[in-house]
Amino acid sequence: MTHSFDYDLIAIGGGSGGIATCNRAGLYGARTMVIESDPVLGGTCVNRGCVPKKAMWYGASMAHALRDAPAYGFDVTVNGFSWEALVEKREKYISNINNAYASYLGKNNVQIVHGYARLLDANTVEVNGEKHSAERIILAPGGYARVPELPGKELAITSDGFFELKQQPKKVLVLGAGYIAVELAGMLQAMGSDVTLGIRHENFLRDFDLMLQEKLMEEMQSDGVTMAKKFSAARLDKVNGLIDVTGESGEVLAGFDSVILAIGRSPATDNLGLDKAGVTTDARGYIPVDKFQQTNVPSIFAIGDVTGQAELTPVAIAAGRRLADRIYDGQEGRHLNYDLIPTAVFSHPPMGTVGLTEVQAREAHGDAVKIYEASFTAMYNAFTEHKSKTSLKLICVGDEEKVVGIHMIGLAVDEMLQGFAVAMRMGACKRDLDDTIAVHPTSSEELVTLR
Ligand SMILES: Cc1cc2nc3c(=O)[nH]c(=O)nc-3n(C[C@H](O)[C@H](O)[C@H](O)COP(=O)(O)OP(=O)(O)OC[C@H]3O[C@@H](n4cnc5c(N)ncnc54)[C@H](O)[C@@H]3O)c2cc1C
Repeated sequence: MTHSFDYDLIAIGGGSGGIATCNRAGLYGARTMVIESDPVLGGTCVNRGCVPKKAMWYGASMAHALRDAPAYGFDVTVNGFSWEALVEKREKYISNINNAYASYLGKNNVQIVHGYARLLDANTVEVNGEKHSAERIILAPGGYARVPELPGKELAITSDGFFELKQQPKKVLVLGAGYIAVELAGMLQAMGSDVTLGIRHENFLRDFDLMLQEKLMEEMQSDGVTMAKKFSAARLDKVNGLIDVTGESGEVLAGFDSVILAIGRSPATDNLGLDKAGVTTDARGYIPVDKFQQTNVPSIFAIGDVTGQAELTPVAIAAGRRLADRIYDGQEGRHLNYDLIPTAVFSHPPMGTVGLTEVQAREAHGDAVKIYEASFTAMYNAFTEHKSKTSLKLICVGDEEKVVGIHMIGLAVDEMLQGFAVAMRMGACKRDLDDTIAVHPTSSEELVTLR
């Protein structure tokens, strides 16, 4: 490795991607530095994304368990729910993760600097008024929640603001149709808030398989979430201390103590100094990369949300680790294959999905597509008064019935998905699932007994 630079690798962004890359590179002996503008490490996922979200989801699932407890013979009196207590625990857990990151980065000799970094040229970064040079720079600044230019937009919060709420909102409007919107709406409703979800079209999660869109819509409505369909917000007003939101066609959704905008995210590329280094972005500000995560500038790489591909933590981590494996451990050709990325949505009930949707499969493979489906009441819900269905869809292609998509909604499918995703990556066909002995009694067994 050359030592004409201060570092072998500098990462801008100490979130999922930047940390994973420098840690792995440091393990191989590279001299690395992570620059993070937040006072703590961990980025979106740890501080205002996956981790606090899952903590709230567990809290919401506990509310459902308490609701269902009488069906299993428990005489339960719930005396209350303390949002404050849950948030305090959550923040303590997150602060432990922040500290753990700092400690294991230290073990791999990764230097950590807190401050806002900008590129000065293809090998130099400036932070806190100091310049640092590196043979390679990795851009991992992630993204931020988009806020539309609407009158009264300052009355609303985003998912960041949701995680800062000190008290549980009583009546909430969530605007948005992506996974963050449905997750926040579902957990708030389960915890006892009165929730309206405002979506622009008839359906939400429109990139997901139609079966998932429809089933989750039914489940959320049966949980009491009010759906404001075909609603596009035009303005927000404060009326008697509460917020009214007027739609583009004049309809008013009134009386919210909290409005959460979850309408999408944008890449954090505005002030990175990309022009100084000559790094190009696409029309939406994302940084295009080749399969080795390289930008148009050979010494500069980008990973994670800023590349606009599968904006998920394990994707940012996997891309970064593979990059470090290739460059600092001589694993030639190693790169991330972005096909078959499994993902869960922590709705109530949760969803799991991997591979092609039915629409995508039919577009790609026409009549060679064969669909297997099942919808059933999981044993847990056979006892409970509140009914919920579990639905599974297996998408196969060709005479060998290769599995190209799995879509599931229901209790515990989030945990079911990982193993099936492994099977798909290994090229599983329907016959392989049929030949696997069922685990009984579970919901998973339905996937290996589909007819
Ligand atoms: C509410 C929510 C829930 C989510 N839930 C899930 C989930 O359940 N599962 C999942 O896989 N993914 C989830 N995600 C997505 C996940 O958080 C991101 O995909 C992941 O964090 C991307 O990692 P990253 O390294 O690209 O960016 P980030 O983790 O966002 O890290 C980027 C870091 O760079 C810093 N930074 C930015 N610009 C600069 C600069 N110029 N100088 C220095 N530092 C800078 C930022 O402060 C930030 O800490 C969720 C996201 C949100 C918002």
